[in-house]
Amino acid sequence: AWTAVDAYSFSHCHPASRPNTTILENTLKATEEAGLPAIAVSPSQGKFLALHCRSHGVTHALEVGTLGGYSAIWLASANPHLVKLTTVEYDAHHVEVARKNIEAAGLSDRIEVIHGAALDVLPKLQEEVKAGKREKFGFVFIDADKVNNWNYFKMALEMVRPNSVICVDNVVRRGKLADADNTEEGVVGSRQVVENAGKEKGVDAVVLQTVGEKGYDGWLWALVE
Ligand code: SAM
Repeated sequence: AWTAVDAYSFSHCHPASRPNTTILENTLKATEEAGLPAIAVSPSQGKFLALHCRSHGVTHALEVGTLGGYSAIWLASANPHLVKLTTVEYDAHHVEVARKNIEAAGLSDRIEVIHGAALDVLPKLQEEVKAGKREKFGFVFIDADKVNNWNYFKMALEMVRPNSVICVDNVVRRGKLADADNTEEGVVGSRQVVENAGKEKGVDAVVLQTVGEKGYDGWLWALVE
């Protein structure tokens, strides 16, 4: 039922006549053909993120975890305000596939894919933001190795403009988030970011559980004042 509702509602809210539908479908197809795992956001999730950025006039966004560029292409293609999305990916093959997809989507001028481990790249971005060489971000999407969720969140805090959102994907983990005995790396990383975001001054956050074609999960949605 979750998959059927996603398909039904997406097809009505985002009819195939929309110009970027083909681009987005081609991105998923090329990503699959290149052998990358099917772990991108769903079409409805991608659109939600893009609608958020569009409605808030986000001009500069940061993503941690590019994969084949699907969510990046959503953020750039469905938000006319976007000047630049910077996305960080450590797997060389994923970077190559993402850059090809972004080029095919005609978005190479608005999406910058940085190749490197986020723990190395984000401090460099922080320095550039501090030095005024890079704009502060209005939206950050954290979707990489879950064990470092809090590290990425903390670094993102230093790089966002007031009233921006940091979204951390996949924190619910089919309900394991609430199981204090679970010691899986991804669950521990998710609990850490949820608990610490709740204590952080100037941050007001919520965990929104989601179901859909990607199963049962959810994201942390944090407003940074
Ligand atoms: N945001 C993408 C989308 O929805 O289209 C999906 C991202 S996928 C869930 C996670 C990506 O993070 C993978 O491509 C993986 O190689 C990358 N990744 C994992 N650990 C990383 C790290 N330490 N630094 C940068 N990228 C990392």
